[in-house]
Amino acid sequence: MNDEQLLRYSRHILLAEFGVEGQERLRKAHALVIGAGGLGCPAALYLAASGIGRLTIADADKVDLTNLQRQILYRTDSVGLPKVDAARATLAAANPDVELITLQKRLAGEDLRRLVAGADIVLDCSDNFSTRHAVNRACVEHGKPLVSGAAIRFDAQLMVFDLRDPSAPCYSCLFPEEGEVEEVQCSVMGVLAPMVGAIGALQAMEAVKLVTGITDTAGGKLLLLDAKSSEWRSVRVPKDPQCAVCSAGAR
Ligand SMILES: [Zn+2]
Repeated sequence: MNDEQLLRYSRHILLAEFGVEGQERLRKAHALVIGAGGLGCPAALYLAASGIGRLTIADADKVDLTNLQRQILYRTDSVGLPKVDAARATLAAANPDVELITLQKRLAGEDLRRLVAGADIVLDCSDNFSTRHAVNRACVEHGKPLVSGAAIRFDAQLMVFDLRDPSAPCYSCLFPEEGEVEEVQCSVMGVLAPMVGAIGALQAMEAVKLVTGITDTAGGKLLLLDAKSSEWRSVRVPKDPQCAVCSAGAR
């Protein structure tokens, strides 16, 4: 790191658990952020500001006026632009050190597996179960840590699965693929803007901890937020020995 970088990241470096070594680990790391919406915007912004070395962001959509209430990478004049283009401009201005790779597509299949294989940490900031399950499968397959977020109305979840550890649970242990889960999206249900921001920021926090090794979130953890009552619940997620994705039989 040069003098300017030592200054830029000095408030990380001052942390005994972080130090220059932690910042270097962050600088060498590649984060994959899937979805540049309410969760992906703050997650990507904090990862960039924190000094992640390489950041890949994938989202197929264009910026819509209804996004601006919570998707903080975009400005009023971003409406109509591909989200990844508007995101790149904001992130590059925030921290030109970060290598940005933007993909205007909904990741699936071989594309998704290849990108997950090349990442050190995966942040699922998508808004639908089919993407979440596909991302989870790719992370299990390649042993990549996965930080998943979800938010709707006044309820939000943060999930951490350190899939580098074969004994860790996966997203499917918590929400089986064949399970009956009602698909609700904030495009129709409404969502409290700062709550989405809080969860996205927490996804970045967990990602930074996983990449630098400052974590006691080993294995799997689920954090539930009820934003109306400001109540948090924390649940340790057990591995499901029968899980169709990560159990010994499934692999
Ligand atoms: Zn599993």
